[in-house]
Amino acid sequence: MKKLSYLILSFFSATAFAQEVSTERIKTVISTLASDGMKGREIGTPENENAAKYIADLFKENNLEYCTGNSYLVPFNYKGQTAYNVCGIKKGKSEKTLGFSGHFDHIGVSKKEGDDTIYNGADDDASGITTLVGIADYFKNKKPEFSMLFMAFNGEEKGMLGSTAISEDKNLDKIYKNLSALFNFEMVATESEFGKNAVFITGDEFSDLDELFNQNAENGLKIHPDPYASEQLFYRSDNVSFVKKKIIAHSISTADMSKIKHYHQLNDDINVVDFDNLTQLINNFGKTLEKLNTKNFNPKYNDKVKFN
Ligand SMILES: [Zn+2]
Repeated sequence: MKKLSYLILSFFSATAFAQEVSTERIKTVISTLASDGMKGREIGTPENENAAKYIADLFKENNLEYCTGNSYLVPFNYKGQTAYNVCGIKKGKSEKTLGFSGHFDHIGVSKKEGDDTIYNGADDDASGITTLVGIADYFKNKKPEFSMLFMAFNGEEKGMLGSTAISEDKNLDKIYKNLSALFNFEMVATESEFGKNAVFITGDEFSDLDELFNQNAENGLKIHPDPYASEQLFYRSDNVSFVKKKIIAHSISTADMSKIKHYHQLNDDINVVDFDNLTQLINNFGKTLEKLNTKNFNPKYNDKVKFN
């Protein structure tokens, strides 16, 4: 009897806390992107290209299709050289598409002498890339309602170069025509000022995306309004390239701007990452996204937004 109740108990606790994407997987992805070997992933460096190829391999593991051409790597011109964004798509029951993005480049290596000279960018924005990879993991063996677009942008730190280029790439117009909303993840490695299992969204006052999402949110996940609205982050992140196309596009973050100490610092490394919270966020995004369909999730801008 004792054994049986133990079995039942462990069965229930296993299902109650089952996470489809494991903490181990999240650790592996973010630690690889933020490793010293990636040397801060600065655009124009071989390590930046290595990061792009690593993300392409993860897209392949998740059986994503190419967005264009015969590669996940989508080239654009950077100072006369070829640099890459990474793009993959998963077909859902509908042609209507939800997009998930982040930027994989960071600011490279410090020129100052010291023990630690590498800007690992674990939070900024290896955490965002890990989130979109985690969402692709979550849906690997599922057929979602919406089709899903996954984009890892390059050159954000040099002025949002990658997201600007890919947003203007005519080869992707067919995808953009069906893009209902873009969730751009920017710095989600830490607990937010609203606590765990919570994020904030930039430009919440411009659309009803957050309300519609929260109505369907699973396991207590919540999108909060932007507490730093005066900083106009909505117009200063990669999502803005898509706002210009009148596509619903917001950035999602957990960064506590009132006390953050690692932004663009050498200590933005794997030690700042709250793995459990990040894993929970990813799984709860997955669970919530599973419930969204073209009837209950059709966000619209209001007339407060500026498209230029
Ligand atoms: Zn960033």
